[in-house]
Amino acid sequence: MVFWLCFYLFFFFLAVAIGYHKGNLVAGILLGYVLGPIGVLLLCLSKDRKHITCPYCEAQIHKRSYFCPKCREKVMAVA
Ligand SMILES: [Zn+2]
Repeated sequence: MVFWLCFYLFFFFLAVAIGYHKGNLVAGILLGYVLGPIGVLLLCLSKDRKHITCPYCEAQIHKRSYFCPKCREKVMAVA
């Protein structure tokens, strides 16, 4: 019983951590809470909402950035 509780909690916190990292904390909490390990898997496959790809140099940049730090091109972030 204790083993399964630890097992479940581990995946719950993992889902929260991945959700936070991807800028999708609420989804991380919900998926981890409802689905456990499967939620973690879904989160890993989900789109990163915190970063966007620069259309000029394809670098991963923060979605709120106005200029790409790599190629200095102006980036129109779609909110
Ligand atoms: Zn760029």
